[in-house]
Amino acid sequence: MAEASHATIRRAISVRGVVQGVGFRPFVYGLATRHALGGTVRNDAGRVLIEVEGTKDAVEAFLRRLEAEPPPHARIDEVSTSVRRPCGESAFRIEASQSSAGVEVVIAPDVATCDACLREMRDPTDRRYGYPFVNCAHCGPRYTIVTGAPYDRMRTTMSGFSMCDACRAEFDDPSDRRFHAQPIACPACGPRVRAVEAAGAEVSAEPIAFAADAIRAGRIVALKGLGGFHLACDARSGAAVRALRERKHRDAKPFAVMVRDVAAASALCEVSAAERDVLESAARPIVLLRARAASVVSTDVAPGQSRLGVMLPYAPIHHLLVGAFPDAPIVMTSGNRSDEPIAFQDVEARDRLATIADVFLVHDRPIETRCDDSVALVTTESPAATTFVRRSRGLAPVPLALPFDIATPTLAMGGHLKSAFALGAGPRAYLSHHLGDLDDVEALRSYREALDRHPRLFGVEPRRIVHDLHPDYASSREAKERGTLQGLPTLAVQHHHAHMASCMAEHGLQGPVLGVCFDGAGLGTDGALWGGEFLVGGYRSYLRAAHFEYLPLAGGERAMREPWRAAVALLHAAGMDVTDTALAARLPHGALRSILAILERPSLCVSTSSVGRLFDAVASLVGTCDVSSFEGQAAMGVEGLAADVDAEDAYPVTFRDGTPRIVETRGLAEGIVRDLGAGTSPARIASRFHATLVEAVVRVCGRIRDEHGVDAVVLSGGVFVNARLSTGVTRRLTGAGFRVHRHHRVPPNDGGLCLGQLAVAAASEEGV
Ligand code: ZN
Ligand code: ZN
Ligand code: FE
Repeated sequence: MAEASHATIRRAISVRGVVQGVGFRPFVYGLATRHALGGTVRNDAGRVLIEVEGTKDAVEAFLRRLEAEPPPHARIDEVSTSVRRPCGESAFRIEASQSSAGVEVVIAPDVATCDACLREMRDPTDRRYGYPFVNCAHCGPRYTIVTGAPYDRMRTTMSGFSMCDACRAEFDDPSDRRFHAQPIACPACGPRVRAVEAAGAEVSAEPIAFAADAIRAGRIVALKGLGGFHLACDARSGAAVRALRERKHRDAKPFAVMVRDVAAASALCEVSAAERDVLESAARPIVLLRARAASVVSTDVAPGQSRLGVMLPYAPIHHLLVGAFPDAPIVMTSGNRSDEPIAFQDVEARDRLATIADVFLVHDRPIETRCDDSVALVTTESPAATTFVRRSRGLAPVPLALPFDIATPTLAMGGHLKSAFALGAGPRAYLSHHLGDLDDVEALRSYREALDRHPRLFGVEPRRIVHDLHPDYASSREAKERGTLQGLPTLAVQHHHAHMASCMAEHGLQGPVLGVCFDGAGLGTDGALWGGEFLVGGYRSYLRAAHFEYLPLAGGERAMREPWRAAVALLHAAGMDVTDTALAARLPHGALRSILAILERPSLCVSTSSVGRLFDAVASLVGTCDVSSFEGQAAMGVEGLAADVDAEDAYPVTFRDGTPRIVETRGLAEGIVRDLGAGTSPARIASRFHATLVEAVVRVCGRIRDEHGVDAVVLSGGVFVNARLSTGVTRRLTGAGFRVHRHHRVPPNDGGLCLGQLAVAAASEEGV
């Protein structure tokens, strides 16, 4: 049916994606009125519904621009249009939201303060001058203040603040930047900051200036931000940083710093164009940058690290506080003790942080969801790539599109460390924010709370639970309990199969692929701890085509925290005399003899093929780390050591053929000991170790391709956070004709495990 270009038509349009809390309705309103269209726009659960009426030309132009020019933080996944009968409507209006059950919900992440809001905050003539809660339809808090769906002020923690007339006028004015900006606020009607001494005394001075002065004086400030409390101090002051470490019970784990802008970041670290983009992105993650040798940052901030975690201000309160320090980076670390999750509620924070902070800078806008900062790493060497080490504030809870449909709504529990879970329904996976290490009681509680809340928030009621094969992971135990309680079937997925599937799902691969999965440890189907795996297969099944040689580890849990045990195991397995090494001389009396006695009795040891443990062994052999104080310390140390050397000569790599094929570690052990004896520098040994791993991967992949005909490779597992290893492997494999895929949207570590678990569960019933 042909229609004349001037004929009046009406269309109903449904837009899916990230379309709520990003100024989408005002954008639609503006577009419709500019094209002289009548009709309506409203939020429905997870989508925006539009009806437009006008000339055929105008409606078509409207549709084109709707898709071509969405607001900055919107993401359109799908637009569907259907024909309606014109009803003579000539005015356009925004209708109130309706909640409708059973429809997909998308909640926007928190967005860093936009430039327009910053200009107002810095303009002495503006009514929001210096106001720490300035926001608009394009920026501000979202996920951390949302209490329900659809996104409306009454379903946020702003519901307790009633708008003043001036704010109401902006909120109601379709031409205003704050039209329907749900967290809209001003000094007259919105939240306020106040400063309190740790002892409880209210501070009468201007709160932010008071906090800045406290930092200048070497004190520690607990700062309530977007997703929780930060602990802040002057990063130049060794004394302040050491005091923070002592009170926080954190020995060596690096702190992140916040600086006012990219120029200030460049004074501390090398910043490439790609890194700059990530630093300035709306998500504002902590970016792990290569630290300059000489900078004002105290060596106590990130002791022994070649990289420094840097972020830019993302909430107005940060801009005001950090803006007071033109030259000083400010330590900005999670407000918690040791490995607990970040504190986020006022009373709880005052309680938990009272022995750490001297001053509290707090406000009265409640945080609904605790959300840690995201952490990103940009590999600048070709091929450049961004890896999220932690996907949390600013990224969660935007759903990921899946390359398949999940027919049975599924809950995937994730792992044990760096935990995150996912809800899957239809073509979407809703990944939670980072929930921490479930060994910690507080972390476990917050994991459970989120498990209870998310099905409600996203309208996905799970009918099935999938978890890791390891029965002792807190997440696996939780899966069993919930399964029994709610009468839901549970499914266990092998750890490295989930890693492989996670990377496949992220890239929309159907398989078969070759999964190179290197990490600290995951339970294997033979009871050993796997972690140096070459798997061939897809979502449904896999073949363990090769793995690193099993080393016997003595000491159970302690073996993970004491890299020297891995060093002894590596040398012992190679049949070498450990008592004759520098390592032996460093060990406490008797320790070596008792370990060697245990290693003689394999039944007392756990076998592991973990590449993470090889990093441990090398860290200890070169003298960088015998006992680690946080997970990943040894591996980071070895990568850092290698940063300045480019040794390409690998130690000898040998295999034992069979299924699975075994990658032997004897050549590595002998080579390192020989190098140590010859006085080779630790940096060069660390570099040769990296080259050895790259060589092993390339050669094993080559053989597997010959045998199985697969040339698509996915790299997954926490070890691939290592930029040198992942770029080295990618470059060599690509050169050898492989198609190589790395994680870009979910972490390669166990934070991305839940996505793979979802994929495997979906395939188990749908035959993907
Ligand atoms: Zn704004
Ligand atoms: Zn107001
Ligand atoms: Fe893992």
